Amino acid sequence: MGFSLTAGNILAQKSPPVSNLRVSNLIEFDTTEGESLLMESKSKKDFFPLTMHFVTQDNLAYCGVASIVMVLNSLKIAAPETPEYRRYKIFTQENFFSNPKTQQVISSEKVARGGMNLQQLGGLLASYDGVKAQVYHASDSSLAEFRKLAVANLQQSDNYVLVNYLRKEIGQETGGHISPLAAYNEATDRFLIMDVSRYKYPPVWVKSAELYQAMNTNDSSSGKTRGFVLVGR
Ligand code: CA
Repeated sequence: MGFSLTAGNILAQKSPPVSNLRVSNLIEFDTTEGESLLMESKSKKDFFPLTMHFVTQDNLAYCGVASIVMVLNSLKIAAPETPEYRRYKIFTQENFFSNPKTQQVISSEKVARGGMNLQQLGGLLASYDGVKAQVYHASDSSLAEFRKLAVANLQQSDNYVLVNYLRKEIGQETGGHISPLAAYNEATDRFLIMDVSRYKYPPVWVKSAELYQAMNTNDSSSGKTRGFVLVGR
């Protein structure tokens, strides 16, 4: 059967497959190697609760909101009303901003337009009673400190690590991004990022040095570098 390269031709119209976005320095979680790295990990306490609450960001700018919602639900923080679930309560990307203290940090409209920076991420987390958030700009920290703190956290229950990094530094497309860390593999020195833009990338295992480098990039919205946040009760 013949075909022609007209506007209606399916080959000419087809958008690039998602696999074209995948890059070689990362190990995708949905591969045999990606699975093995989790099995061999000795620092994966946070993987299980985060998996139970893993969500896709609601819009292109909501990576921070989706990440926060995953962590607050994993920490079992008292959630606001959720009309659609009647008497059951859970954090959603919609009801997260119903707390007036949260809106004081930054409004949902502003986040939907331009996302959030590292300080705002910490401020939004701490706007809920009982949540403690420690913000670390990468330029004030080091690869060794980041690795030590993040690995210790991933070996403990009831606390979490969120990372704010520049995607293109780890070879992804392209801008600033936020997601939780779920595990660390000791033998390969890689962290598992539970990427909340699930329409675009699978969770990936990234070398700690590359992740730190991607966090140690300037965020023009704050004039400071990106970094990481440790969250607990
Ligand atoms: Ca933890």
